[in-house]
Amino acid sequence: MNNSKIIIIGAGLSGLVTAYLLQKKGIEVLVLEANITIGGRIQTLVETNGTSIEMGATWFGKQHPNLLEFLAELDLDYFKQHTKGTSLFETMSFVPPQKFEIPDSDEPSYRLVGGTSSLIEKLAASIGLENIKTDTKICTIRENGDQIEAKDSLENSYFAQKVIVTLPPNLAVNTIVYHPQLPQPLLNLAQNTHTWMGESIKFALAYTTPFWREKQYSGALFSHVGIITEMYDHCTFDTKGFALKGFLNGGTNVLSKEERQSKVIQQLVQCFGKEAENYTAYHEKVWRDEALTFFPYEDLVMAHQNNGHDLYQKSFLNDKLHFAGSETATQNPGYMDGAIVAAQTISSKLK
Ligand SMILES: Cc1cc2nc3c(=O)[nH]c(=O)nc-3n(C[C@H](O)[C@H](O)[C@H](O)COP(=O)(O)OP(=O)(O)OC[C@H]3O[C@@H](n4cnc5c(N)ncnc54)[C@H](O)[C@@H]3O)c2cc1C
Repeated sequence: MNNSKIIIIGAGLSGLVTAYLLQKKGIEVLVLEANITIGGRIQTLVETNGTSIEMGATWFGKQHPNLLEFLAELDLDYFKQHTKGTSLFETMSFVPPQKFEIPDSDEPSYRLVGGTSSLIEKLAASIGLENIKTDTKICTIRENGDQIEAKDSLENSYFAQKVIVTLPPNLAVNTIVYHPQLPQPLLNLAQNTHTWMGESIKFALAYTTPFWREKQYSGALFSHVGIITEMYDHCTFDTKGFALKGFLNGGTNVLSKEERQSKVIQQLVQCFGKEAENYTAYHEKVWRDEALTFFPYEDLVMAHQNNGHDLYQKSFLNDKLHFAGSETATQNPGYMDGAIVAAQTISSKLK
């Protein structure tokens, strides 16, 4: 170990991979995380019967080479998303759903065995829990002589030679105060940088049987009509846990959970039959309401807007402050692959 100490703000995938890679170089790190759990936009719920259900990041493929290499390094297995059977597309409210088959693809989507959080758990075990401090919300970052100070909401101070902020950029500039102030072009840029999936609503239903598979449905549903806009089979890799999972229309964040749940069941019964009512659990996550992920934009910001911008590759506060969340990545920004790329980029620059 050398004496340099680097503080990483955020224990999402970017923050944890950055910590992992810096440790590999012999650099001492401390990860500070606001939430009481780690993982950020990766969140796997595990039902009592062991069914893992993704409320955040789920899929990846060959187009994500950095993630695939990293999974190999950590010895984590993955499996193909189930798509076999009849899929449904609801185009208009007054016609029955169109039926189609999703063709076998050379580039399928994959899911992690045991859930995406197994990646987070493996990283945390390698980094060491003593180097990750949860329940620590950083509110101020201040250049302090030849050091940099991060102060949390309880006024505790943490000092280091460098700080790496891995929050989505819009959140990073709206919820943390910097001294001296960050350059105006960076502030403008970050406020107009999209946080991938920040506005999404995920839902999942657990079942005791994969009744849709038994009726030759794939479980995939796309809709321009109902509250469910997109849904897939979400059974475990060993087909011992059964679930359906997808996205709800983002505008339904104004409804109550009960209202959304009732509309979900109504749509599923219409599409797949009465068995859809026999679920054992309904889960949902309105990501827009997650103050540690999403901060409302001042202007209209489009998906992926300003992701991977050149300014994010620069350092600030006299080379003591860096940004490295997935949205800053030069490749696949916003995705898990981007989180790995951002971590690789920053860790390759630091000694
Ligand atoms: C619903 C959903 C579905 C997705 N699906 C996919 C998918 O299928 N495939 C894919 O590749 N990607 C997907 N993504 C994107 C993927 O989750 C992200 O690319 C990745 O997890 C981002 O990691 P990150 O570390 O850059 O950011 P985050 O995960 O956002 O991590 C930032 C961390 O900073 C913490 N934090 C916030 N404020 C503070 C503070 N003031 N002080 C300290 N800590 C703080 C947060 O709690 C969080 O843990 C999805 C995202 C969502 C939300």
